[in-house]
Formats: sequence, C-alpha cells, structure tokens
Amino acid sequence: MSFRPSALPGPFRIDRLVEFEGPFRSATHLFPLATDAEVRATPTWQDDRFYDRQRDLLVMAFHALLVRTPSHNIIVDTCLGNHKPRPMVPEWNERSGAFLEDLGALGLRPEDIDVVLCTHLHADHVGWNTQRVDGRWVPTFPRARHLFARREIEHFRERMQNEGPAIHHGIWQDSIQPVLDAGLAEFVDGVHDVVPGVSLHPAPGHTPGCVMVRLFDGTSTAWLIGDVIHHPMQVDRPDWYSRFCEDPPAAVASRVGLLESIADSTTRLIPAHFPNPTSVRIVRTEDGFRVLTD
Ligand SMILES: [Zn+2]
Repeated sequence: MSFRPSALPGPFRIDRLVEFEGPFRSATHLFPLATDAEVRATPTWQDDRFYDRQRDLLVMAFHALLVRTPSHNIIVDTCLGNHKPRPMVPEWNERSGAFLEDLGALGLRPEDIDVVLCTHLHADHVGWNTQRVDGRWVPTFPRARHLFARREIEHFRERMQNEGPAIHHGIWQDSIQPVLDAGLAEFVDGVHDVVPGVSLHPAPGHTPGCVMVRLFDGTSTAWLIGDVIHHPMQVDRPDWYSRFCEDPPAAVASRVGLLESIADSTTRLIPAHFPNPTSVRIVRTEDGFRVLTD
C-alpha cells in the first residue's frame, strides 16, 4: 500500500509501506495519564479514522516511509520486519509480510535504497534493517548508508550491555549489530544534513536520541516525526506521554515545541503510527491544537 500526501514539498515523493493498520491498543493503555472520560472528551475520539468506538481502541498504523528525492531513495523507519521473534507482542511476532514485494511494486529493489534513517531504535522502527538469509540476519539494504543518532546508539548499546541482549525484544542482535558488522552504519550528532533537502533534528524524550526527519524544498516543509506524536489524540492532549517514553517531561516538551512551531502553517506532519490519512497539518484552537487532514 502506498500514498502520496497532498501538498508535499515539490521534488519529493513519499510512499507508505504498511505492515499493520487497524484498531490496536486502548488509549488508557498507551497513555498512562488518560482516563476513559478524558479520552471521550477529545475531538479525536469522535473521528472514525483514528478511533474505533465500538471496540474502544486507537486506530494505528505501523509503516515505513519511502522518500524519493531527485537524487536519492531513502527509507525512514524500517518498521517490524519478517521472521523477527517478538513473543511479547503477538501482532509483531514472526511476521511474514509482503514488505519487499510492496517495495518492488513501487519500482525499487533493496539495492536501490541509498539511505536508511531510523528515528529511534524501537522494534517497530528497525525491523527491515535486516532480513533472515540462511539462518543469519543480514542487512536488507546492502548499499545503503544507515544513519543513526550517536546518542541513540550509545544509549541502547549501554542498556544492552547492562541489562542483557533481551532488552527491547532483542533488537540489538537481530536488527542493529548486523548493520554495524557490515560497515554500513554512520553515527551523527545534532542537526545533520543527510542529502539535499533532507535533514535530521534531535527531539529527545520518547528515547534519549530520537530524531525527526525534515524535508524542505526551499519553500514548503514536511516533518517525518517517528513517535514524537504517536496518535492524533496526542495533538488534542500533548501532555499525554506514551507508556514507552523514556523521559516523559522531555517527550512532552519535544511534542509541544513541534506543535507550536508548525501550527497554522502549511507544514505537514507525517508520523510513524498515524493511520490513513497519515499526513496532517496542525491548527491552533482556543484550548490547544487540532489535526487538519486536508
Ligand atoms: Zn513506534
């Protein structure tokens, strides 16, 4: 499945490679501060595209974003991957989806990907960094530069060494180390220009080194923000951090700062878990912010 968000910066094309889309988790589970009454009071609760009121579940997507610039093919967040053992999350466990076939349908082979960007190192953002070949995990995109925020890599390496290789579903062994071993990884600091028109920007909180990807054509801007906003309900309630945020106050500050900076502009947000329509704008209201899906 793919999409072409309206009003994207001129020379860029973005397609969405979807591994899951549908009702997924309750709002009170994902957002520890939320109560049922507060969830029902949000505008997003009334929007069928983003909330399944019958089942009382957030509608969410898990997708990678394929960004084609005039000069480069880039994958932002490599989603879940196939055959990854993730027994803690049934929807993620030992998948065998059509990700590479979907990429092929968009006219690209794995070796056509020039750059891989992971906004952060959670299991649903690094999966297709590798694929299983003859029982070994090998990089899926053999020619690609894989850019990681140095802060993020150091944080997860440290946690892996202190807490053991099972942390975060064992991603280090099956989705990070093989990329490092293949010499395909580059570590970057702060704001970093990736290729013309594409840059990385720190947005700490969800994880210590998480970054957002900015597309800019000289006039208009789109931000691919990973999990800085998980769900449209967090635009209604930016104070609701997720249960997976490592530093909740910093996560809220990064989210509010982003919303403040783009409200009432033409800038588009393309988060990692917004279901269709994934690309939104932000407008300011009397009491905060709302998503606009024009
Ligand atoms: Zn995520």
